[in-house]
Amino acid sequence: MVDFEFNEEQKLFRESVREFLAKHLQPVWTKIDEEHYIPTDLIYRMGEQGLFAIPIPEEYGGQGGDFTLAAIAVEEIAYHDPSVAVAVYTLLNNAWPFILYRYGTEEAKQLILPEVGRGRAFFGIASTEPHGGSDVAGTRTRAEKRGDVYVANGEKIFISGVREVMEQLDLGGWYLIARTGTVEQRHRGISGFALLGKKSGKKTPGIEYSILNTIGRHGISTGMLTLKDVEIPKSMLVGEENRGFYYAMEGFTLARILVAAANIGAARWGLEQAIEWSKGRVMYEDQRPITRFQGVSFRIAEAAMELEAARLLVYKAAWMADRIYIKREPGLKPKDLNFYSASAKLKAVQTSFNVLSTAMELFGAASYVKETNIARSFIGALSYYVGAEGAQNIMRYIIAREVLGREYVK
Ligand SMILES: Cc1cc2nc3c(=O)[nH]c(=O)nc-3n(C[C@H](O)[C@H](O)[C@H](O)COP(=O)(O)OP(=O)(O)OC[C@H]3O[C@@H](n4cnc5c(N)ncnc54)[C@H](O)[C@@H]3O)c2cc1C
Repeated sequence: MVDFEFNEEQKLFRESVREFLAKHLQPVWTKIDEEHYIPTDLIYRMGEQGLFAIPIPEEYGGQGGDFTLAAIAVEEIAYHDPSVAVAVYTLLNNAWPFILYRYGTEEAKQLILPEVGRGRAFFGIASTEPHGGSDVAGTRTRAEKRGDVYVANGEKIFISGVREVMEQLDLGGWYLIARTGTVEQRHRGISGFALLGKKSGKKTPGIEYSILNTIGRHGISTGMLTLKDVEIPKSMLVGEENRGFYYAMEGFTLARILVAAANIGAARWGLEQAIEWSKGRVMYEDQRPITRFQGVSFRIAEAAMELEAARLLVYKAAWMADRIYIKREPGLKPKDLNFYSASAKLKAVQTSFNVLSTAMELFGAASYVKETNIARSFIGALSYYVGAEGAQNIMRYIIAREVLGREYVK
């Protein structure tokens, strides 16, 4: 039977998250964007509220929830902070710790996961390199095994959470993608590591970093990491050597569902703003609201329809993820999620772009003034339009590969 209703647990969860965010996030989201900083006590509070490590079992310090609950949390967070910075912080700390939980060593899991769950640690993704983020199989950062450690050298760019790890929290890091095999092995010569930038408040020797001067979603930093002979203990190798590309693809597939959730949260906020503004903007001799012009009302109608379509894709993808990863239904495999996750990301990101640019246009010149905040959201969500967590064309490629067959798109 098809059921488009959330169940009682999901509804109650959404309500409690909304209540928390209305009190603790909504009043400060513009300040977070202005000051380029998510207050540490807000991060701790979010941990106490159970917003991180949602799909991870309680025995590892997670919330014992699933991807649908994670998507609900991220959607609500992006609605209450439509610059999407806090949503990005949250979605990374749900998707990538899950990959560590699934494939990491017991030592790495015990060290990192409970702290992520409590909001005391950050765990994101360090994949992108200066030569081109879409070519993950062409990763150049190297990790060489020397005795009990791997020694990593290379450069990562556009990495979220660099300042948060290196300057704000006492523990944190990234799922690092590094070459352990030959260049010719392409994706079969890549491993994944839990690279800690900081542990017990101490920076890992050999990691240099800088923060990029980004145009939006200022609350979470985007930076560069330079690795110079960084020693990574063998216990921080995630899964098998030379299989890291495959785990990363699973991580991206899961993270993109939450990215899509963030985009529908921001778009929902943008649509509400556009509706409220357009109803109140009255002019001409009869003082009509601008909604009486079809040029305006049809734009709002299109935006509402698009948002609903994107929302359905997001929750269908989350539902599929739960069937595969949480309920572990027989016969379903991680690759069965590819189409749904890529479709949700492609559509939700396009939708937030369309809805927020519609809001910009309907606000007219007022949108060009910082205080109306529409541009803050438009530019924040734009990070996903230009590439974060996988370029839109890469989503089209994944969908094409699924519907046509791999051999027809190579
Ligand atoms: C704010 C922000 C935060 C980010 N955070 C992180 C992070 O935490 N960790 C991390 O690892 N990365 C992060 N990224 C980087 C992100 O993953 C990359 O932007 C993305 O993978 C695309 O890589 P690129 O920007 O180098 O673009 P490129 O790969 O150089 O692509 C450029 C253009 O070419 C197109 N293109 C490339 N290949 C193909 C193809 N095969 N077919 C068709 N078109 C193609 C793309 O669609 C794109 O339009 C972040 C990016 C941003 C903007």
